[in-house]
Amino acid sequence: MVATAPPSDATVLFAGSNLDAWESADSGPANWTVRSGYVEVKPGAGSIRTKEKFGDVQLHLEWATPKRPSGTGQARGNSGVFLMGRYEVQILDSYDNETYADGQAGALYGQYPPLLNASLPPGEWQSYDIAFRRARFDSTGHLREPARMTVVHNGVLIQNNEALRGPSAWLVTPPDSAVGDAGPLELQEHGFPVRFRNIWLRKLPPRAEPPADYAVRTDRPTISSSALKKLAGRYRSTDGSTPAVVALGKAGLSLRLTDATLDLLPLTALKFEATKTDATVEFTLDKRGHASALTFRLGGEDREFERVK
Ligand code: MG
Repeated sequence: MVATAPPSDATVLFAGSNLDAWESADSGPANWTVRSGYVEVKPGAGSIRTKEKFGDVQLHLEWATPKRPSGTGQARGNSGVFLMGRYEVQILDSYDNETYADGQAGALYGQYPPLLNASLPPGEWQSYDIAFRRARFDSTGHLREPARMTVVHNGVLIQNNEALRGPSAWLVTPPDSAVGDAGPLELQEHGFPVRFRNIWLRKLPPRAEPPADYAVRTDRPTISSSALKKLAGRYRSTDGSTPAVVALGKAGLSLRLTDATLDLLPLTALKFEATKTDATVEFTLDKRGHASALTFRLGGEDREFERVK
């Protein structure tokens, strides 16, 4: 079992003493049993879910099935954790307990068996560390990217970025549908007094969109080719370590730096932005109006180059 303290940016959902962050899955109060340091499923009380809704998250939780197991197959320490209230990572006493493959502990229920069975004996605390990326839909509700799930069980990778086919269900795989960007985290009541502790998650920021096509800028100045020609030439970093070549081609200026060639698009007559990366190049002119130096700025850091005579 891998117990991990919540990082500083975590949303702590259960720290051992109360269910303030939770409600019943049918909207009443969450009335599972809180004991010292853990909460236990109250059979018959229904599932519970977070009041807050979440989309992409990193989730940590710890769970334990009853120490004295009863029943077999699915009827042994069954619970589960549902991301966005839809996608179940199965919780089950899968220690020396056979059941169908995509129903064992760590299965993405009804869809993906775990890569292996990393279960500990009943009664022992076990951990799930889950990376979840929600499904993406276009504006007309068509699926653009499926939801994805990665699960580490007791420190062992058991689900590797699997694409979910839709919400979890038994023997059917209903297609996914646009249900919004967030949903509650839900813990399943399946009639067994399974315990939980140390539940926290981190909301994951959206991946930055790539910048818009540089060429679509309409406010770019037009620089004459005779002016651009005065910038072209060979340069060398002032510490002598890196050569750079500014060339004038049909499409305008480009900068070759080691193995990379970056097109330079004008911001002003002397300042250009590079394609492919968030860099600018600014030229300094000598008295005759030819470039004598350039400053390559990348990530807030300046690198000076001088013209090779
Ligand atoms: Mg279950």
